Amino acid sequence: MITLKEALSLSKEELNKFKKELRTKIEANKDLNAYIDVNEKGDGVPIAIKDNIQVKDWAVTSGSNILQGYISPYNATVIEKMVDAGLSPFGRTNMDEFAMGSTTESSFYGKTLNPHNSDCVPGGSSGGSAAAVGAGLAIAALGSDTGGSIRQPAAFCGIVGMKPTYGRVSRYGLGAYASSLDQIGPMTQNVEDAAILYDIISGSDDKDSTNAKMDDKVTPNLNPNRKLKIAILPKYLENASKDVKEAYEKAIEALKSAGHEIVEKEMMNAKFDISAYYITATAEATTNLARYDGIRYGNRVTGSNLEDTFIKTRSNGFGDEVKRRILLGNFVLSSGYYEAYYVKAQKTRQLIKDNYKKIFEDVDLILSPVAPTTANKFGELENPMDMYLSDIYTISVNLAGLPALALPVSKNAEGMPVGLQLIAKAYDEQTLFDGSLSLEKQLNYNF
Ligand code: GLN
Repeated sequence: MITLKEALSLSKEELNKFKKELRTKIEANKDLNAYIDVNEKGDGVPIAIKDNIQVKDWAVTSGSNILQGYISPYNATVIEKMVDAGLSPFGRTNMDEFAMGSTTESSFYGKTLNPHNSDCVPGGSSGGSAAAVGAGLAIAALGSDTGGSIRQPAAFCGIVGMKPTYGRVSRYGLGAYASSLDQIGPMTQNVEDAAILYDIISGSDDKDSTNAKMDDKVTPNLNPNRKLKIAILPKYLENASKDVKEAYEKAIEALKSAGHEIVEKEMMNAKFDISAYYITATAEATTNLARYDGIRYGNRVTGSNLEDTFIKTRSNGFGDEVKRRILLGNFVLSSGYYEAYYVKAQKTRQLIKDNYKKIFEDVDLILSPVAPTTANKFGELENPMDMYLSDIYTISVNLAGLPALALPVSKNAEGMPVGLQLIAKAYDEQTLFDGSLSLEKQLNYNF
């Protein structure tokens, strides 16, 4: 598959020829279920779009039954910026319903397969975007990351996935899951493409009040030769599988060979991350999902009166995982439990931020696993709690609002990709990309 950098220099004829071949290839790999729709808006370089990002005059369903029939009346800011840069939305990719999940199994459209082993999940919730890029069915894709949904599927499918600092990329037009955690980001074949796509979609936007209004770009200054101080977290790795531990060792050696300084640091126990995240995310999700009432958007099941219509529409339209989170979110926000759960979670969130702040007083980057294992088999994480626990390595980054990039480091004995992530200080995407490019070059690794 050509890279984004190469695609940007194709002529219109070459691009049209490429798109025709791409459609044929997508059709031949339909079983993967990476795409839920292969339409196209515009005539630029084709980029696959997760099904929770608004593209004008196109169905947007967030992988849910409740949004069947909804057509977006406007473009998300990231889409406007993409179009201005000569890219165009091409295909909508499958996802866990409302971005809740780590496997893409909770989609209304059925599961997406991992391109490296069809018995395995592609990760989630941006599993369709990761599978499309991993299978050579997309040059690059957009995903969204609330608690790891770009980085974890990227790691499972052997691609690069980047979550920007909170506020760097406008959330205007992104279907909200947990507004204080959500960020849109690039999913690409390599680090340089991720930097290119990040530069295109990031920057000022008056339509998002949480936007950082910063317009600096990383690509013009991309430099893999900077020597950086990088933290490793030996104790944090206790919960990781042998494959992940081996990949971690390999990455440390590669970083040392590239001339970076490695220092050991400690993170607080990740079990607190899980609690803080699942309380915060479900509380915000409950509020965000209240708007899907059958009156304003999508699918309606008409009841005997207004309240009955709300109940029937929501009971029919939402899947089990979404319902579970609405229940959980309402519980932690209810008057008797608000202090005990929600307020405590916010205090824990502050501790996590402080923990990162302290580490970053001394280092430029942190090397961390993305997930405790390689891609799980379908049905393996049947118990929702097991699935929540598998997010231990990604969610603290969202709670602290930091930028992070997952990249492929090795393959395990079964040929499955193992990815790791680098994490940087808030707004220091430059160092994140410089360090990631250095690691990628040193590993000389191509999936
Ligand atoms: N797996 C996490 C969750 O289910 C993260 C999802 C995401 O980042 N959208 O909430």
